[in-house]
Amino acid sequence: MTVPISFEFFPPRTPNGRKTLLDVAAHLARFKPTFYSVTYGAGGSTRGGTAATVKDLREAGHAVAPHLSWAGDTEAQLLATVRGYVAQGVDRLVALRGDTPSGIGSPRRMRHAEELVRLIRTHIRAPLVLEVAAYPEVHPEAASAAADIQFLKRKVDAGANGCITQYFYNADAYLYFRDRCEAAGIGVPIVPGIMPITNAANLARFSERAGAEIPRWLQRRLDELADDHEALTSFGADVVTALCERLIAGDAPGLHFYTLNKAAPTAAIVARL
Ligand code: FAD
Repeated sequence: MTVPISFEFFPPRTPNGRKTLLDVAAHLARFKPTFYSVTYGAGGSTRGGTAATVKDLREAGHAVAPHLSWAGDTEAQLLATVRGYVAQGVDRLVALRGDTPSGIGSPRRMRHAEELVRLIRTHIRAPLVLEVAAYPEVHPEAASAAADIQFLKRKVDAGANGCITQYFYNADAYLYFRDRCEAAGIGVPIVPGIMPITNAANLARFSERAGAEIPRWLQRRLDELADDHEALTSFGADVVTALCERLIAGDAPGLHFYTLNKAAPTAAIVARL
């Protein structure tokens, strides 16, 4: 492995899940990740769970980057959360707008990630690394690809140090996007988000919502293998390893893995890189 890697988790719901996640983190630690990130549920639904998971991982000796979004909090509440993390020794955050919880139409104005980055940079003096989200295949709500890149630039100009992308299975989408971002004056690293393939139906559902495209050839093969878990995960590992190899050859500055709290699918890829 020649590039920095990081691993993303979501907060487990049960005490057993918390213990299992620590085992997963310990297992993945052999790949020497730069950090583990912990998601923040839509609408702040995992507020306590994210904080508890961050604490567990930090106590186990891991570097952790909590995700954070406005989620209905006041500025004072958000800043208190950030100061709490800084007091624990956290030095990196992933700043997001977030989504509304599915099925709940929110009358509330969603506050863009740019505002969160600006708020943190205005009030927090600690040298925090701030990551923001980027979309090689264009955010589903973006007016256009060009507008999406302009808004990404605004997040970076507001003080973000790096970007992590939504996952994708088409390396050219990332490489083209990265080059357009550079041409637009975005000078921070844009790290590809990598989603291992373990379940065809879940991936299709997830991708539809996230605006990530599954190429037709890949979807057809996943459909064929849907009832053969072993064959599907082995094929998925081949496809995603080849994707990572192309990204590394194309000078991607790192790889961020969406682990879905499982060690094996991510380890199967990283071990081969
Ligand atoms: P923004 O940067 O605010 O962009 C959202 C949309 O608004 C885009 O279409 C953009 O073009 C447009 N836009 C941006 N700025 C402006 C502006 N100033 N004025 C007008 N339009 C603007 N979701 C969660 O709920 N919890 C998580 O933990 C989480 N982690 C994620 C991690 C990564 C690496 C990624 C890629 C996504 C993650 N998401 C998470 C999903 C994310 O919250 C959604 O994709 C959400 O819809 C957009 O968040 P954002 O921070 O990119 O928003």
